[in-house]
Amino acid sequence: MLHDPQTAGLIPAVRERGVPVVWRCHIGADADDDRVLAAQKFLVDFVCQADALVFSREDYIWHGVDHDHVTIIKPTIDAFSPKNQDLEAATARAILQAAGLRTGRPASAPAFRRMDGTTEDVTHRATVHGGGGLGPDDRFVLQVSRWDALKDPLGVIRGFAEHAAAHTDAHLVYAGPAVEAVADDPEGAAVLRDARQAWDDLPSGVRERVHLALLPMDDLEENAAIVNALQREASVVVQKSLAEGFGLTVAEAMWKARPVVASRVGGIQDQIEHGDSGVLLDDARDLAAYGEAVLGLLHDEALAAALGHAARERVRDHFLGSESLLHYLDLLQPLLARRDRR
Ligand code: UDP
Repeated sequence: MLHDPQTAGLIPAVRERGVPVVWRCHIGADADDDRVLAAQKFLVDFVCQADALVFSREDYIWHGVDHDHVTIIKPTIDAFSPKNQDLEAATARAILQAAGLRTGRPASAPAFRRMDGTTEDVTHRATVHGGGGLGPDDRFVLQVSRWDALKDPLGVIRGFAEHAAAHTDAHLVYAGPAVEAVADDPEGAAVLRDARQAWDDLPSGVRERVHLALLPMDDLEENAAIVNALQREASVVVQKSLAEGFGLTVAEAMWKARPVVASRVGGIQDQIEHGDSGVLLDDARDLAAYGEAVLGLLHDEALAAALGHAARERVRDHFLGSESLLHYLDLLQPLLARRDRR
């Protein structure tokens, strides 16, 4: 299995050794502009040599690729990983307190279960720009994303400040990795700088309710447990991306029965059915519509709960690992049989 454009040049070299190759593309673009077409043209001859190709959506299949070799497999989440495992409400709260994201003394252990089955407490703390964490009972709107302009952190912050903050006492948390930790994301530091500037420019009164959180990356399973706790404690989860291949954060929040407000872009559209299992924003740059959708859910807890319930069922039916496992078995069996016949 080779993943993403970076590995395309390996395909002929691996096949030469008699090993069937599945090439899995995790990314895609909503519109094929000149740069997308030029990149596909540069790589497509390598990609076409694979025995099978996997894309996340029909719309993402490259030009020049034989559709008979393509299987569509949607990304899925692991329900048992530290990111998605069940957490008691008290444990989720304790994790946020241990990580310095909520004030107050933890009433229970901030514990999560590692993939190897052992249990560990969260010990590393997040850095919160401006210093203030959430109070013990503050409700909050959450976006979890890398510091990437396509995740629109400035729009998330300004839209909340200008179109929601005056009509709610809820806070906003934008949580991303401590940037120095993501070595293959060189633009992260610049985007974080811009987000900090946007925070500094907020009027006081609103600024205290907007938290830019840099989550510790010392231990990736601990980082995942903190994301898990944030998603479980959020009143509304936002994914206001300008573009999105799939949007794992959306499936993660839906699995936790959270009401999600997200842009109608890329793979997010496959996950949320508007008005049933979440809210889709037709124009990702319309800050007023984003503020209105968030307020609508903050003010109508019954609607928020109903969307969250439907969201969890939708992930159970379509976006858990068991689903993609079955697809991969179907894909791999004939390839292995062909190899055995050689
Ligand atoms: N994530 C994380 N810690 C962070 C920020 C993000 O674990 O501090 C995770 C998030 O929970 C999700 C993944 O990174 O599992 C991001 O995947 P997504 O498809 O949403 O966006 P991408 O970053 O791949 O564009």
